[in-house]
Amino acid sequence: MPDRCVDTTTLTVLNPATEDVVATVPAADAADTDRAVRRAVTAQRAWAAAAPADRARLLRRFADTVDAHLEELAQLEVREAGHLVGNARWEAGNVRDLLLYAAGGAERLNGAQIPAPGGWNITFHEPLGVVGIIAPWNFPMPIAAWGTAPALAAGNAVVLKPAETTPLTALRLAELALDAGLPEHVFQVLPGHGSVTGRALVDHPDVAKVVFTGSTRTGREVMERCAARVKPVTLELGGKSPNVVFADADLGRALDPFSFLDNSGQDCCARTRILVQESVYEEAVARLTDAIGAVVVGDPLDEKTQMGPLISRRQLDRVRHFVKDDAPGPRGTAPTGPGFWFPPTVLTGEAADSRAAVEEIFGPVAVLLPFTDEADAVRLADATPYGLSGSIWTRDVGRALRVSAAVRAGNLSVNSHSSVRYWTPFGGFKQSGLGRELGPDALTAFTETKNVFLSTEA
Ligand code: NAD
Repeated sequence: MPDRCVDTTTLTVLNPATEDVVATVPAADAADTDRAVRRAVTAQRAWAAAAPADRARLLRRFADTVDAHLEELAQLEVREAGHLVGNARWEAGNVRDLLLYAAGGAERLNGAQIPAPGGWNITFHEPLGVVGIIAPWNFPMPIAAWGTAPALAAGNAVVLKPAETTPLTALRLAELALDAGLPEHVFQVLPGHGSVTGRALVDHPDVAKVVFTGSTRTGREVMERCAARVKPVTLELGGKSPNVVFADADLGRALDPFSFLDNSGQDCCARTRILVQESVYEEAVARLTDAIGAVVVGDPLDEKTQMGPLISRRQLDRVRHFVKDDAPGPRGTAPTGPGFWFPPTVLTGEAADSRAAVEEIFGPVAVLLPFTDEADAVRLADATPYGLSGSIWTRDVGRALRVSAAVRAGNLSVNSHSSVRYWTPFGGFKQSGLGRELGPDALTAFTETKNVFLSTEA
């Protein structure tokens, strides 16, 4: 059974839990991309000219339409991405909520008046034009909406390229947008290959900004192409996030295995580096052994299942490459196939600078490393090229604040494994990215600020 697309004109979507073909989708080429962008340019002018309240009303109708098709979208996400059905329902609901949040923003995107001798400055937040959004496969629905909802709310048109393996929910969202009454070509989805459709979108002279979510390697190329055109770019890239557990922590909550097993570990914020104070290291090994041994891995449609498959054979091969059969550490169990299965795994024999401890694996695998004191914990937490997320577990408030201030990452949680909320800013330090999405400034990220000086001299 082919795991990847066999040519550049078609995408074959496989169910990761069964390897059955779910759909075959035509892939857009450079000419298709050009046509889509040109249509978007025309549609955007009218969209930007509409009253903000009208854009907000249509985005709320889009949210209602998503809500009415929540179960259908969730089932599609299960089939194309292998997500647990309960998580997929949450993801579809997250798209609805993002649209509602952005709709409110459309009505409050105001400029400022700044007095000056002899006149007034008036600032405007003008839409950029056409925004190109390139999404990964790990959370196809929410990440498609992270950029799309605020970009539309601010008066832009969006051309979205979903990942090769997961185009179906994005295509359905584009249909639902039309059903809700959004004008044609204001939100278009172009399934295709990164090397063809993705590059064509990034390079297109009428694409005013690119929002890319994916690997750091591809993000670097996207940034270079944008640099050549002096085009703004937001990059949401890889992660290797620490879970810093001090000896005084609530170990039961701190060592929750779903901090790195959610979405089978295919989560940019997964806490895949479990750093525990040395006095509780042995207890941590025992707790994690029990916890991952009890994880139910299997059919994503079964409500009792706690972890599903990986997205593809390619991803499975990548995870296997990092985890040797004889590597020390506890393992859970997983089905043997068909499907792309890997058991929950904790590696205990890795050096802090080993590839498994430093590089993003993107599977259900964590490394467990001991630290001595606060300074050692911060040093280890920062000892990767990434800086996306992380957790700090301690009952000492002063220490929690000191460590939060010291760790170089964009999204930290104290005594929690929470990472992403649509009403707070999200993004990475270091090689985890550039710029921020979500939160109160999400809309202005899709605008140019213009200042007009108005003379009052007679
Ligand atoms: P990827 O970089 O392989 O692909 C991401 C997207 O880029 C896909 O749509 C792909 O088709 C497209 N693409 C590939 N080559 C391209 C090119 N040359 N030009 C333009 N587009 C191109 O990443 P992936 O494997 O799909 O996703 C997993 C990665 O995404 C992980 O590294 C994960 O950490 C990261 N991620 C980051 C965040 C975040 O918010 N920071 C969120 C989710 C995923």
